[in-house]
Amino acid sequence: MAQAIDVVILGGGVVGCSVAYQLRRRGVTVMVLEPGAIGAQASSAATGLLSPYKLLGKPDDPYLALQRASLALFPGLAVELEELTGLSVDYHQTGCIRLARIGQAGRLEAWAATWRSHGVEMAVLQGEELACVEPALSRAYQMGVSIACEPQVLAPAYMATVARAAVLCGARLVADCQVVAVDRDGSRVVAVRTAEGGVIACGSLVLAAGAWSGLVGHELLGLRLPVTPANGQSLQVRQPGRALSHILFGEGIYLAPKTGGRLYVGATHEEIGFTPTVTAEGTARLLNAARLLVPGLDGCVVERSWAGLRPATPDRRPVLGTAPGWENVALACGHNSFGVLLSAITGTAIADLVTSGSLPDVARPFGLARFGSSSSACYTNRRHDLSA
Ligand SMILES: Cc1cc2nc3c(=O)[nH]c(=O)nc-3n(C[C@H](O)[C@H](O)[C@H](O)COP(=O)(O)OP(=O)(O)OC[C@H]3O[C@@H](n4cnc5c(N)ncnc54)[C@H](O)[C@@H]3O)c2cc1C
Repeated sequence: MAQAIDVVILGGGVVGCSVAYQLRRRGVTVMVLEPGAIGAQASSAATGLLSPYKLLGKPDDPYLALQRASLALFPGLAVELEELTGLSVDYHQTGCIRLARIGQAGRLEAWAATWRSHGVEMAVLQGEELACVEPALSRAYQMGVSIACEPQVLAPAYMATVARAAVLCGARLVADCQVVAVDRDGSRVVAVRTAEGGVIACGSLVLAAGAWSGLVGHELLGLRLPVTPANGQSLQVRQPGRALSHILFGEGIYLAPKTGGRLYVGATHEEIGFTPTVTAEGTARLLNAARLLVPGLDGCVVERSWAGLRPATPDRRPVLGTAPGWENVALACGHNSFGVLLSAITGTAIADLVTSGSLPDVARPFGLARFGSSSSACYTNRRHDLSA
């Protein structure tokens, strides 16, 4: 017998589960269908940095506005999720230091002053000041920008907590379930069909299949969705004798101190297909850069290495909004290197789209139309009357 549900979400990563959680808070029935294990892909491979302030990034960039809107949701959301589930997301206001080139001082001062005028705590540190704030840093680095407000979570813990919260609110998260086809009525998806022969009738569909979204969108919905996999490798090492207290960005990598004396070193970027892969070259590159930043890491023990597939797009920005040619399909994919950070705003924005038919202003610049596809003018959801 066919089941009926308001919204089916394809993909059980942090994006799919965040959308499920926000939809349940709005009273919508929701089912997440995941071909593997819930949260086992990129979302658990992430470092968990919530760091939008790229050096000299343009303050009026709509992408920065989206990231900042998501960042602003995190402190409250972290508490809400922890209270609901009894789990910890390991949210810490660690703050970061972005190392800068000598000679950039004037531009950095002006950039930091602009942000300070928006209430963001930033300081340009030079020479001894920098060494005092982060004594483990190599003396070869003489300038950096300290950004106190950039926090982090432990990504696997955050992933597990969002998934648990969605379930506690009544979402159904179904692992090991492959959708092989959709049934349509004109420009509406009316049901999905699973490999086991199940038929799930739905009022709406959300595509949140991470790095697989381009493939899935093409195969099930006939979409041209430029989302492809970008392999990212990371390492876990022990903190050096003089432990780092900030997240450090420099030499094309970052170092993120975690609880329990762990230090994450991330991350590489390779386009090598759909298999997450750790390579000797990637490990060596991360370690060499880490040792340049912090000489105390010479001879450090590598405790763990892993890889995940970022959902990459040509402009490195997400795809949010209605799928072209469909009235009731929402796209929530292409989050590149910021999917954990952006999961909070994506959850609320896509839940708004499904329930009210429109995205909040901050998410509007990220439609698929920017790549040349025309987007459906409006989104219409029809709820299923489950008692019928
Ligand atoms: C090494 C590394 C470090 C990172 N660090 C950070 C960081 O510090 N901060 C940050 O914000 N982001 C970071 N990211 C990026 C972040 O991990 C991703 O942007 C984010 O996890 C994407 O979430 P997602 O739910 O879209 O994808 P995923 O977590 O990959 O989930 C997508 C799910 O879709 C499923 N799927 C596949 N095929 C189908 C199908 N046919 N039907 C249904 N579902 C399907 C997959 O099995 C998967 O479970 C990092 C990524 C990597 C690799």
